[in-house]
Amino acid sequence: MKFFDKNICESCGASILKLADFGTNEDGTVNTEFCHDCYQKGKFIDHGITLEQKIE
Ligand SMILES: [Zn+2]
Repeated sequence: MKFFDKNICESCGASILKLADFGTNEDGTVNTEFCHDCYQKGKFIDHGITLEQKIE
């Protein structure tokens, strides 16, 4: 797991400043690509905008 001084959620673009702000994988480990608001327990939380829609 990498932990940089400044992490950006790849879904919403929010800054992730502390470990608790990271999302979590299904097995409970930290997911460093997405924030806790977007990704918890291996699943994206529905904000109305998914990553796939963002790509399109
Ligand atoms: Zn996010």
